[in-house]
Amino acid sequence: MTQDFDGAIGIDLGTTFSCVAVFLHNQAEVIPNDLGNRTTPSCVAFHGDDVLVGDAAKNLAARGVPGVIYDAKRMIGHRFSDKSLQEDSKRWPFAVAAGEGDKVLIQVPFKGETLALAPEQISAKVLAYLRECAEKHLGKRVTKAVITVPAYFNDAQRERTKAAATIAGLEALRVVNEPTAAALCYGLGIGSGAGESHGTDKAIDVVVFDFGGGTFDVSVITIDSGSFAVRATAGDTHLGGQDVDTNLLNHVLADIQKRYQVDAAANPRLVAKLRAACERVKRALSHSTSEELAMDGILPQGEEYLLTLSRAKLEELNAAVFDKCLEVVKRALKDAALKPDEIAEVILVGGSSRIPRLQERLSALFKGKRLSNSVHPDEAVAIGAAVQASILSTAPEQQSSRTAGVVLMDVVPLSIGVEIDKGKFDVLIPRNTTIPYKATKEYSTVEDNQEDVDIVVYEGERPQTKHNHKLGEFALEGITRAPQGDPTITVTFSVDADGLLTITATEALANKSKSLTVESSEHLSEAEVRQMIEMAAKFQKEDAASLRADDARAALQGQFEELDRLVARLPGGPSAKLQKRLKFVPHGKEWLARKLDQCKDTAELEGKLGKLTKLLEKALKRARKESSRKRPRAGEAGEGGNDSSEEEDSNEDE
Ligand code: ADP
Ligand code: MG
Repeated sequence: MTQDFDGAIGIDLGTTFSCVAVFLHNQAEVIPNDLGNRTTPSCVAFHGDDVLVGDAAKNLAARGVPGVIYDAKRMIGHRFSDKSLQEDSKRWPFAVAAGEGDKVLIQVPFKGETLALAPEQISAKVLAYLRECAEKHLGKRVTKAVITVPAYFNDAQRERTKAAATIAGLEALRVVNEPTAAALCYGLGIGSGAGESHGTDKAIDVVVFDFGGGTFDVSVITIDSGSFAVRATAGDTHLGGQDVDTNLLNHVLADIQKRYQVDAAANPRLVAKLRAACERVKRALSHSTSEELAMDGILPQGEEYLLTLSRAKLEELNAAVFDKCLEVVKRALKDAALKPDEIAEVILVGGSSRIPRLQERLSALFKGKRLSNSVHPDEAVAIGAAVQASILSTAPEQQSSRTAGVVLMDVVPLSIGVEIDKGKFDVLIPRNTTIPYKATKEYSTVEDNQEDVDIVVYEGERPQTKHNHKLGEFALEGITRAPQGDPTITVTFSVDADGLLTITATEALANKSKSLTVESSEHLSEAEVRQMIEMAAKFQKEDAASLRADDARAALQGQFEELDRLVARLPGGPSAKLQKRLKFVPHGKEWLARKLDQCKDTAELEGKLGKLTKLLEKALKRARKESSRKRPRAGEAGEGGNDSSEEEDSNEDE
C-alpha cells in the first residue's frame, strides 16, 4: 500500500462484536470484513500455528475448540485483584494470572509455550484486523481512528484502549462514549433511510438504549445545536444477548435430558455447539414466530435432535431479563429527573435491541413515544465514531455539509474552579462548557512574604466552596517572597477531549510550576451532579446572602483591626469622645463573628450591616484624627496639633 488515507476511521470496539466505518463524500459507510460481514466478533483464537481474529475465531469457539480469547473489554484497564475481574474469570474457559503490579495476564498455550498476554494485546488484534479491512476497502494505509468506549469507562480503561490502538498501528484521535456516538449518528440523521436530521436546532432529550451481547447501557442524552451531552447513564455490565442465549440453552439441555435421558450439559463441546445454535435460533425469532433447532451428534445411533422453539417460548424464558432492562431504563430516567413523556425519542442500539417483546415493553413505558429505528442497531456507534473521526481529521473549511456545526461531543457537567479568599469558589471553567477546553487566570498572595500558595480545586455550582465537591489540592512552593498581592500566580485548568482535567500553577519569577491531574473517579457521579445543580437553584438566595455576609465580614474585620491599631497607639489613650464612639466595638465584633451568618433575610442583613458600617466609619474617623493630631511628625517635635479644625458631624452615637 503506497498511499496514506489522510482521514480517520471510526471503530466500535464491542464486548462481543466490533464494527468499523468511515465517513467519506458526505456519507457513512460500514466496512465489511473478509467474509462480507458488517460486524466482527471481538474474539481472537490461538489455534495450531495460526492467530485468527473475528468470525474465524468465533467459529472455532462454536465448535468447542479451546484457545479462543474473548471479553478483553471486560479486562482492559482492570487490576487482577479487582472484584469484577475475579468474578468474570470464573466464567472464562481460559486462564488469567496476576502480572507485575497486579496486571491482568491472559494465559494462552500457543506453539508449545504459554503466552502471557495483556488484555490490550487482544483488543489490539481485533483493532488491527479492522484496520486491515478498512485498508483493503479504501486501498490506502490507515493510521488514525476514533474509538468508542462505554460512558462509564474510567481513565485507566480509556487509556488502555488507546494503548491497544497504538499496538494496532492506529493513532486514537479520540476516545468517544458509545451512546454519544450513537446519538451523533441519530442526530445527524446519518444512517437513517429518510436522511432527515433530527433536533439539531432545538434541544431535545433522547434515550440511547444499548442492549448488546453481554452488557446493557442506557444513557439520557441532550442534543442541542450540534452538542451532545450525556445527562445520565445506567446499566448492567452483565446483562445482554448472552443471557437470552443461556436461558434458551438451559431449556434445550433440559429437553434433551427429559426426552432422551442424555446429559449433554456434561460435554463442553456439545454445550458450545448448542449455545451457538441457540443464538442462531434467537436471532431468527426476532423476525419469525417459530424456528427449528436441529443438531447431529447429540443422540445415539446418528439420530438428529430436533426442537421447535416459538417466539412465545423465548419470551417466557426471558421475562426476567426484560424486566431487568426496564428497571434500568426507569433508573436512568429518574437519575436524569425526566419522565418518559419528556423523552423525544428512544434510540435503539445493540444487536439485542431487536427483540420484539423488548420493543413492545419499551413502547408501553414511553406511551407511544417513537422508538427510533432510524439508526442501525449494530452500526450506529461505529458510524458516529466515523463522523467524529471525519470532523477531527478534516480542516474546518473542508468540513462536509452534514457535519458542519457539529463541534463537540461532550461537556463539563459541573463548574470547576479554585478556592479564593477563605472559602469563595472562583470558577475557571463554567458548567456545560464544551471540551476540550483551557482556561487561565492570575492570582496573587494574601500575605506578605508568602512562600507557598495552596491551590484547592473544586467542582460545583455553589458560590462557597464548603458546599461544593473538592477534587484535589496541591501547594506551589518556593514562590518569590514579596509584599502581599505582588507575586503573579498563573493557574491553568485544562480539560482534554477525553475529559481528563489537569491543573497547573506557575510563578514565573521564581520559575516554579506544579500540576495536578484529576482522575475521573474523583468527580461526582451523575446523580450527585444533578443534586448539586438542584441545590444550587434551591439555595440561590441564601447563597447570595451568605456570600454578601462573607464579603462584609472580611471588610468590616479589616476596619476593626485598623481601629484597634490606631487606638492602641494613641499616646494618652482615646479621648472621652472617642471612648464613647468605641462603645459599640465588643458588641459589633461579637455580632460579626457569631450572628452575621444567622441573618438570612437580605433586607435585615443590609440594615444591620449599614448600621455597623456607619458606627465603624465614625469611630475610625475620630481615631485617625486623634492619632494624626497626637503623633509628633518628624521635624515638628512635640508640637501639638490644632483642634480648631474640628469638622466632625455632631450627631451622637446611637
Ligand atoms: P456488543 O455488546 O459487543 O456491542 P452487539 O451490540 O453487536 O454487541 O450485540 C450482540 C448481541 O446481539 C449478540 O448477543 C447477538 O446474539 C444479538 N443479536 C444480533 N442480532 C439479533 C437479532 N436479530 N435478534 C436478537 N438478538 C440479536
Ligand atoms: Mg456495542
